[in-house]
Amino acid sequence: SEDFLRKADKLNVVGQLAAGFAHEVRNPLTTLRGFLQLMQLRKKWDSDYGEIMVAEIDRINSIISEFLTLAKPNSMSFKKYDVGIILQNVITLLEAQATLNNIQFHMQVESCLPLVKCSEIEIKQVFINIIKNAIESMPRGGIITISSFVQANNIYIRFTDQGVGIPETLIHRLGEPFFTTKEKGTGLGLMMCYKIIDDHMGKLAVKSMVGEGTTFEIKIPFIS
Ligand code: ADP
Ligand code: MG
Repeated sequence: SEDFLRKADKLNVVGQLAAGFAHEVRNPLTTLRGFLQLMQLRKKWDSDYGEIMVAEIDRINSIISEFLTLAKPNSMSFKKYDVGIILQNVITLLEAQATLNNIQFHMQVESCLPLVKCSEIEIKQVFINIIKNAIESMPRGGIITISSFVQANNIYIRFTDQGVGIPETLIHRLGEPFFTTKEKGTGLGLMMCYKIIDDHMGKLAVKSMVGEGTTFEIKIPFIS
């Protein structure tokens, strides 16, 4: 059933993120361990090291919080959110993975966007799926430009990559369950995106040029 598919894909997104998550947490842990070992050796507390250690612990904590929001079962509660802030949190979560893949984010997102009545977890899933696809489309790295604008009663968010692009003959298949061109793809990510954006009375549009890149545009109405 549809519900099963959505659950399966959610697990998969979390699973895929787990590798990046482990990496991000392990780095500050290594730093912490090193400083503790040094201080143990010198039998003396160093306040400079202490300060760095607190900052590293804070970082681990925020990574874990971000991860837990995703793993939490979907409560489907619609509340008023600034989707720009949700987007910024997603970028924080994906930054390490992007860097590992030689990818930079160029953010042109307006601060203080009009509030949208939405399910935070679901909108987050949409952003993650689109950005992960963008990352996967650029095996040798590149730039992902994320921009926003407001027009009439809608917020528009665009994700543009410099990836392989999508042939015109395949564009209409996007969002079809299990449609994937990847060896280890699920072909469920975009299906979920279309469903979620539809649940929010929005639209998801795609423009692509083979060899040049792809733009996904989310249009979502705000509360006026
Ligand atoms: P998966 O990523 O598991 O393959 P998705 O539903 O997320 O499943 O995407 C389906 C297909 O759409 C991908 O396999 C790919 O062919 C194509 N696609 C999606 N986003 C992009 C993109 N940014 N650039 C190129 N192709 C894309
Ligand atoms: Mg995908």
